[in-house]
This record gives sequence, structure tokens and C-alpha cells, in this order.
Amino acid sequence: MEKPEIRDNGEVHEKGPDLRDSTGRPDLKSMTQEELSALFAQMGEKPFRAKQVYQWLHQKLAVSFEQMSSLSKALRQSLEEKTSLTSLKVAGERISKIDGTRKYLFALEDGNVIESVWMQYHHGNSVCISSQVGCRMGCRFCASTLDGLERNLRASEMLDQVYSIQKLTGERVSNIVIMGSGEPMDNYENVVRFLRLISSEDGLNISQRNLTVSTCGLVPQIRRFAQEGLQVTLALSLHAPNDQVRKTLMPIANRYPLKEVLDACRYYYETTGRRLTFEYSLVRGVNDNLQEARALARLIGGFHGHVNLIPVNPIKERDFVESGHRAVQDFKNLLEKSGINVTIRREMGRDIGGACGQLRKSFLEKEGQGR
Ligand code: SAH
Repeated sequence: MEKPEIRDNGEVHEKGPDLRDSTGRPDLKSMTQEELSALFAQMGEKPFRAKQVYQWLHQKLAVSFEQMSSLSKALRQSLEEKTSLTSLKVAGERISKIDGTRKYLFALEDGNVIESVWMQYHHGNSVCISSQVGCRMGCRFCASTLDGLERNLRASEMLDQVYSIQKLTGERVSNIVIMGSGEPMDNYENVVRFLRLISSEDGLNISQRNLTVSTCGLVPQIRRFAQEGLQVTLALSLHAPNDQVRKTLMPIANRYPLKEVLDACRYYYETTGRRLTFEYSLVRGVNDNLQEARALARLIGGFHGHVNLIPVNPIKERDFVESGHRAVQDFKNLLEKSGINVTIRREMGRDIGGACGQLRKSFLEKEGQGR
């Protein structure tokens, strides 16, 4: 698979979505029904079989062609020979004793591993998926980025995380957040494709309103995303009320000033009507004092959205410390007094490998693959 081209100015130039696996065979699960029809026509098969195959893949969650019992043996054989059907292998599982949250480590066909999380809330089951193997955004407190970007995930590999978890838990997934490893806007085409496939009528048909994409703030992609005609929630990783502090936590802040990022978010709201989420990880002594809370209130006071406060999850490679309970409460109270909706992210699965990317990282270290 071709990697996206990274230009000198840091911009990513993608070469369209990835519709082939690493051996060059068409990756059926990443394709729309229309694309499947076209492929079948090319293969000399009946194009109307596309709907059946699509439903086997995305509704019945088949992991082999053999399972597709409504297809002729000849068609199954031909698909087996000429195309690719992805699936994930469970490489590790941890279940939280505190809240039942499950973290999965999945192995991809090329041997890379990714992690996904399953969380139970009163409003339904939520899955947090990864969008890339690793990440190249370099946020200082994040474990996913420590080894850089390995590669983008294809739409099928994002779908597989949800499908595998639904099968492993035996429970319907109702919400998906793209908040695992990776920067979704740095894998734009495949992520948008994933969002369309997972919400399609002949697939799991998960409401777009129950899908959230979290970004560190890639401005051109946010603007483009606003025009996709999707109804998904955009979450912005803000983490600071001004560029000066933001730059100390997030290298991307050197490229896109807050003003441009927030303008793009406003545009997203105006275009889609979807309220925004602002994520703010509280780091002791870095971004958690009341002056910063006040500045944050001023900054986002005019937005339709809410703030999600996350006490930073310390990783051993960095010496950031989470804010104390009192500081978190005071920060929250000040925002609320300014009329801003605030939630403190319930710390799910705290006992099973902490922040995103930590489980994969510890796996790689154990396997001696860590760099
Ligand atoms: N690349 C996307 C998705 C990443 S993870 C983004 O930047 O939004 C989802 C959220 O978790 C982001 O807000 C990210 O900044 C935050 N995060 C990552 N590591 C964390 C940690 N150790 N503690 C608290 N929040 C963390």
C-alpha cells in the first residue's frame, strides 16, 4: 500500500482511499455496494450479487467466504482467489474490574497491532477505535505517538475493530468514537469511508449522530469534513486556552493557530448544525489554573458545544502529572459559572492500561519490537 506523501511544508497529500490489501488484492470490506458491483462486473460475476456480499460483510459480519451460504460455490471460490477479506486476530484482552471496560489488542494481516476499547454506558455500548498504526502528531502526553506513524488503517480495518468487538462481547455497539491511536484527519479518505460504511442501511446502520471524530485540529481537513454531508460529532482536542500553552503540549499548534482552528470548528457547526465537543486534558501546573479556565471560557463562550475535561493519564515516558481532584472541580465550576456545559470524562478502564496507545506500546516493548 502506498503511504501518503508528506510534502515539505508538512501537508499530507493522500492518494485517495486504500481499496487494496498489502498484497494488492481488492479489499472487499472497504468498498461501497456500487464499487462492489463494478468489481463483480469486471470479474464477470453478476453485479446484483454485490448487495448480498455487502450484507454478509457488514450485517452478518462474515469472516470467511465459506460462511456466505447464499452465494454459489463457484462465486465463493472466485472471491477467495481474487479478493481479500480482512479480519483481526485478538492478540490481547484486558477487562477492567472497576467498570467492565474491555481493551483489545488486535493483530492486522501484516502483523501490526492496534488497540480498541469497549465501554458500557447507560445510553449504550461505545467502542473507541484506532484510525492509524501509531501517529505522527507528537502530542507530548500521548503514548500513541511515541514511535511515530507506522501506517494508515484502511476502512475495513476500522470496521473490523467494531465488528470483532460486537462479536466478542455479543452486544450491539451503538456509539463509536474515533479517539484511539492515530489522527483521523491525517487518514482522511479512509476515515470518511469508514463513517459512510458503518452508518449505511445495508450495514450496521449506526446513526451518524452516534459517531464522533476527534482531531488535534488539522484546519483544511476540518473544513473539508464540514462539506461531506455527514451528521457526525466533531471533537476538538483543545487542551489549552492560548497558542503559547498549546504549543508546549501539541506540536500541531505551531502549524495552525487557535484562531484558525476555532474558525474551522465554527464553520463545521454552521455547515452541519452539529454541536462541538472540546476536549481538555488537565495537566498539573501546565494548563489547569483558574486563569486558564477563565481564558478558556472566554475563548469558547460563543460556541455551541461543551467541554470534556480529562485528568491527564500519566505515561511513563513523560513526567506530566494529572491535576488534583480539587483543581479539576474548581476548573469545572468556573467554566459552569460562565455558562459553559462541562463534563468530566469518567475514567473508564483506568486499571487496564491507561491512556490510548499504552497497551500497544507495552505489547511492543514486551515483544522487543519497540524502537
Ligand atoms: N488524534 C486525535 C484522537 C486522539 S486520542 C486527537 O488528537 O483528538 C483522543 C483524546 O485523548 C485526545 O483529546 C487526546 O489529546 C487525548 N489524550 C491522549 N493521550 C492522553 C493522555 N495520556 N491523557 C489524557 N488525554 C489523552
